[in-house]
Amino acid sequence: MSQPACPICEMTEILIHPDRCECVTCGHEWEHERLPEDAAAARVVKDAYGNILADGDVVAMIKDLKLKGSSEVLKVGTKSKPIRLVDGDHEISCKMDGMAIGLKACFVKKVLN
Ligand SMILES: [Zn+2]
Repeated sequence: MSQPACPICEMTEILIHPDRCECVTCGHEWEHERLPEDAAAARVVKDAYGNILADGDVVAMIKDLKLKGSSEVLKVGTKSKPIRLVDGDHEISCKMDGMAIGLKACFVKKVLN
């Protein structure tokens, strides 16, 4: 987080109160900017069965999935290389069958190495 600065005098010597900020230099007070809902908090990604997934896990397809824009089909049971969790609609970034793909967690299950 960057140091808050006073919107009036732009000094960064700020007193942080629970409900407001106060500039030491000019005495200006203002309300905290609302932070996005725990944007920094770790996101929990779960597979189709509710197992929590983490970076480095190995997952397998629980159904055939046709890859967009190609004729390739990931067969049920296909295992990934260790996954990486990413932001966005497709939470899992991994390699399957040598292809780098993004997967939705609801299409996979966690497998033990
Ligand atoms: Zn100020």
